[in-house]
Amino acid sequence: MTEQMTEVKRCRMGSKSAAPCQFVATEPDPHYGGDEPAVCALHAADEPLHEEINEYGLALEKVERYLKKARRDENTVLIGDLERLRADYRERLDFFYEVTNGLRAANRKVTVYPGV
Ligand SMILES: [Zn+2]
Repeated sequence: MTEQMTEVKRCRMGSKSAAPCQFVATEPDPHYGGDEPAVCALHAADEPLHEEINEYGLALEKVERYLKKARRDENTVLIGDLERLRADYRERLDFFYEVTNGLRAANRKVTVYPGV
């Protein structure tokens, strides 16, 4: 008598780290595509948000630097524009963090990889 086993793949995120993702891979890798499940639903949804967080974080650092220079130069027009841009980037970052935190909270009850 043979037992048919369904292959269950574990999410690859953090697989080489001390804290690998514990969820079952159900989605293709958001970076490399393909049809094979490579990451869990959380990381498939979460990863593009982290890219946005990185991009806006870097942009915010640049705006801060330009803002310092504009203040040194006492350029009030540029200071006003950069302050508005900084507020916009901060608001977007707050939103992305809120969404990723919400995704993580919602995913705490998904099925974990067998044996974890
Ligand atoms: Zn995962």
